[in-house]
Amino acid sequence: MPLNFQGHLSLTNFYMITIDNFNLSGKKAIIRVDFNVPLDKETFEIIDDTRIKSSLKTIIKILNDGGAVILMSHLGRPKTGYEEKYSLKHIVAHTSKILGRDVKFVNDCIGTEVKEAVANLKSGEVLLLENLRFHPEEEKGDEYFAKELASLADVYINDAFGTAHRAHASTAIIAKYFSKENKMFGFLMANEITSAEKVMKNTQHPFTAIIGGAKVSDKILILEKLVDVADNIIIGGGMSYTFFKAMGGDIGNSLCEPDRLDIAKKLLEKAKRKNVRFLLPSDSITSDVFGNEGVINIADSMDIKNGFMGLDIGPVAVEEFTKAILQSKTILWNGPMGVFEMRNFRNGTMKIAEAVANATQQGAYSLVGGGDSVAAVNQFGFSDKVSYVSTGGGALLEYFEGKELPGVAAIINS
Ligand code: AMP
Repeated sequence: MPLNFQGHLSLTNFYMITIDNFNLSGKKAIIRVDFNVPLDKETFEIIDDTRIKSSLKTIIKILNDGGAVILMSHLGRPKTGYEEKYSLKHIVAHTSKILGRDVKFVNDCIGTEVKEAVANLKSGEVLLLENLRFHPEEEKGDEYFAKELASLADVYINDAFGTAHRAHASTAIIAKYFSKENKMFGFLMANEITSAEKVMKNTQHPFTAIIGGAKVSDKILILEKLVDVADNIIIGGGMSYTFFKAMGGDIGNSLCEPDRLDIAKKLLEKAKRKNVRFLLPSDSITSDVFGNEGVINIADSMDIKNGFMGLDIGPVAVEEFTKAILQSKTILWNGPMGVFEMRNFRNGTMKIAEAVANATQQGAYSLVGGGDSVAAVNQFGFSDKVSYVSTGGGALLEYFEGKELPGVAAIINS
């Protein structure tokens, strides 16, 4: 049955195309992983290996089945071809160590040398290809390049949720060179999609979306979508001041996007029309400098003095937000409540992380996604106290905006 994927899909159909349902014995499987890990600029040592660890389960399943694994990934943003600092050779030793077996490496991702390495690859072995983005064809979604990659394997597996919103050769185009039974999602991808679906489609109400961060402009599309589905929308961080300004408040030197005042007003009106509670932080922690060393006050967020800026949510806001969070059955959190990188303005984000963790313990489903909120839950030690921490910032946002993710659609719609 052809599936019509428009941002959301049926979980029953979805499970049929995850790796769990396939036996890969005797097969060569090419997996698109996201091994775009941060490296030390001088020693090229891996600073954080979370992304590699996230795909281990998929790799091990194939090896245990008796298949062979070909790994392909991008690393960084190389401009025109090979750059030493972006070579995936730097991650070979560490990947071998955490996988518990040797990872072979080849200096390119297509071509004769690669074909030879693949021909010599036996069941139970792992081969890592060089950075896909050393070929500009990768990001262009070049068909010939995709076909060359596809020719290396019997089976294609996408386990790179972080790049699922890109129609690149290895994330989407390649899928067309495999038959329906020979392309599937890895475990990471499957978990990401299942958890996003739990929030957006199989939603338990009340559903509270917590959206923070610097700018309204980055979050307009997701907010417009959330007004249709959420019961509560909590706004924190720098973006809240554009809303206060739109309501006629005095926001001093707080962050503001004057060209977004209209859209902020419209969002507030739409929320009211749809009976969605739109919670803005009643009070703010303000400072006269963007740093830890200024004069710090608590102010009404509609009445911030000239020369001062709101850098965190205040105690009343923490209390109001916490109450709404604790009454929720589904929670989505994207973006910090303040400048959590600075010690004087991290309390709001920390308290909200705590509230999300407590709501989860009471039975709510909580999904944290998007770079800075993920960094915050990690930093404050809450990552294993929420239901799911997403690895895909941009991809997750686009999913919630209702956009089709090419990396997901390429496997489902065929
Ligand atoms: P985003 O990438 O849009 O999620 O924004 C995250 C960034 O917003 C973080 O670096 C925060 O420090 C910053 N941020 C959060 N709240 C504020 C605020 N009230 N004023 C200025 N920057 C903020």
